[in-house]
Amino acid sequence: MNLSVNTFYELSEIQYSFIARKFISMPVLEQSLKPFNTLQIEHSCTHLLHAKSKEELTQYCLELYRSEKPFMLLGGGSNIVLTDDFQGTVIRVESKGVLKTEDQDFYYLDVQAGENWHELVESSLLMSIQGLENLALIPGTVGASPIQNIGAYGVELKDVCDWVEYLDLASGELIRLNAVDCDFSYRESIFKKALKSKAVITAVGFKIRKLWLPVLTYGPLKAFDKETVTAKQVFDCICQLRNEKLPDPTVLGNAGSFFKNPVIAKAQFMKLKEEFEHAVGFTINDEEVKVAAGWLIDNLGLKGYTVGGASVHEEQALVLVNLGKATGSDVVQLAKHIIGSVKHAYDIKLEVEPRIIGANGEKELLDD
Ligand SMILES: Cc1cc2nc3c(=O)[nH]c(=O)nc-3n(C[C@H](O)[C@H](O)[C@H](O)COP(=O)(O)OP(=O)(O)OC[C@H]3O[C@@H](n4cnc5c(N)ncnc54)[C@H](O)[C@@H]3O)c2cc1C
Repeated sequence: MNLSVNTFYELSEIQYSFIARKFISMPVLEQSLKPFNTLQIEHSCTHLLHAKSKEELTQYCLELYRSEKPFMLLGGGSNIVLTDDFQGTVIRVESKGVLKTEDQDFYYLDVQAGENWHELVESSLLMSIQGLENLALIPGTVGASPIQNIGAYGVELKDVCDWVEYLDLASGELIRLNAVDCDFSYRESIFKKALKSKAVITAVGFKIRKLWLPVLTYGPLKAFDKETVTAKQVFDCICQLRNEKLPDPTVLGNAGSFFKNPVIAKAQFMKLKEEFEHAVGFTINDEEVKVAAGWLIDNLGLKGYTVGGASVHEEQALVLVNLGKATGSDVVQLAKHIIGSVKHAYDIKLEVEPRIIGANGEKELLDD
């Protein structure tokens, strides 16, 4: 076994042979992933490991990577579509721990990847840290939050992120990347591009200004007076809005917004407005407009449109739901129908948000 020297997580021979025995020669046990994905798709994996600490997470990943065994990471399973039984090991990221420090102007949080995102938002408020409240009730783990730069109600992870620590699979080193180097943009980051399949996020650092500036730019939040509003009021309002707008995945399986809001040229948006005066868009800059994908789908009368057991949510066109027995393939076929319809009607290309996972790992929607 070729173990590199001087790496942070180098394994001793004893550790290595213990782990090797444990995982390489493990009997194949089909493990259902239904409880671990919010779309509630019934598919399985060959082995399921629960990484309860950063050390376990790095050891499991390095071991499998170095022995060239297929594996994938799973947080809360709220941003994946399983289209087949995964032929490999799934490592659930369950490492816990939050460390708080501060200086005169900022609070700093050092949070392990397996912490639940919403619980972090809640506990930050209890610690009198204000700034995460707009991101309340987003499902999933802290470790997955930088991957698509989660965002809601005018705030994105990039606004509060200080650094991201990841395990570089090739070298076995833990690397801390400053937020500016994470290449964050709308639902994008370096972890979906140059570092895709190369990095395991182990912890995220937050830097939150003590002088709180509420973000009240969206919908009902505008009704608050910025001089008197509290972070708890914003938090409560957002929880209420989300509970009203989005189906609860424990009741009706879903992966949140299925499509990104497409960004188009202002001239194209003006043409769209001429044809459909109610088209919804948000100006990004002098040249571009972000169009509400939900409106594009709703306007085609696709709410309630069903393929097999998968359907466009009756109230929220951006959300695809599992009516009970949907397969991943139903969800993919439904998504393809929507993409085709939107392209045909408006000449706008929709992109999917969740990751499509097949037997051999992540794949493109069109591969299915
Ligand atoms: C009801 C609902 C509402 C939602 N609302 C929003 C919203 O408002 N805004 C928003 O941005 N998103 C939203 N989402 C999407 C989702 O919550 C986020 O993308 C979330 O960050 C996914 O976290 P997760 O732990 O569930 O990731 P998973 O679904 O478990 O994993 C997603 C991908 O990340 C990889 N991964 C997971 N953990 C790690 C790690 N530690 N290191 C490297 N790779 C990893 C996985 O292999 C997979 O490819 C919503 C989803 C649902 C179901």
